[in-house]
Amino acid sequence: MTLARLIPVVAAGFLLCATAYAAQSTSAIDRLYVLDCGWAHAADQSRWSPGVNVGQPIDLSDNCYLVHHVQAGYLLWDTGIADAVAAKPDGVSVLNGAMVWHRPKTLAEQLAIIGVEPDEIRYVGVSHTHPDHVGNVDLFPKAIVLIQKAEYDWAFAQPTPPFSAGHPAMKLEGDKDVFGDGSAVILSTPGHTPGHESLLLHLPKTGWIVLSGDLVHFKDNWDNRRVPGFNANKQKSLDSMQRVADILAERHAQLWINHDKEQSDQQRRAPEYYE
Ligand SMILES: [Zn+2]
Repeated sequence: MTLARLIPVVAAGFLLCATAYAAQSTSAIDRLYVLDCGWAHAADQSRWSPGVNVGQPIDLSDNCYLVHHVQAGYLLWDTGIADAVAAKPDGVSVLNGAMVWHRPKTLAEQLAIIGVEPDEIRYVGVSHTHPDHVGNVDLFPKAIVLIQKAEYDWAFAQPTPPFSAGHPAMKLEGDKDVFGDGSAVILSTPGHTPGHESLLLHLPKTGWIVLSGDLVHFKDNWDNRRVPGFNANKQKSLDSMQRVADILAERHAQLWINHDKEQSDQQRRAPEYYE
């Protein structure tokens, strides 16, 4: 078949696929990697579930996600706890010992195994600016950080900046269709922090996925709509959870909860990937 004859067939295929979904996506994402970006042991899970499971310990995963778009290249979603933690065999203790972070593998070495150079990362999307999400932003000095303006302004007013102030950044005010084709849409989901955001993805085989960020920390909190006491705004946290719940229902999407270790342990890990 000549190229000229092939193009209308492909175009017709796209139209058929697109109409199969309530919201259109041409799904040019061919690979989604789940990277191990650390884990934490916490002495008391009620830090995230006020009044529930008080004094019960919990382990939390910490994931980064690498998205490859056929035409536009790589988007890294969150960067995890700092790679420097990998050099500390006992991890790093925070919150007066209430939580200990570990980094069995660095982000840099996992990218090297996949064969991706840091400079190939075009965008680094950050769900928010807590240290377990922005620990390695400065590994990617050429990437554009995709961050809500509200988050940027808040974070850079703190004593310790989340990443270097000169880093290229796109300060968003609401949702952002990253590649312009609906395959990766940043969703404004404030509440955990002033400018928290989540990521809606569409993959040809896996379908729709929402990467939670810290919209919620584990499934039991999602099922019961619990808001951690330290969130910036409780009502906005609840509104953002409802917003995502509506999107999940509308698109038949999966919710991938970054810190839910039980769910994370069942996921395919880099260098394997989702299509
Ligand atoms: Zn977190």
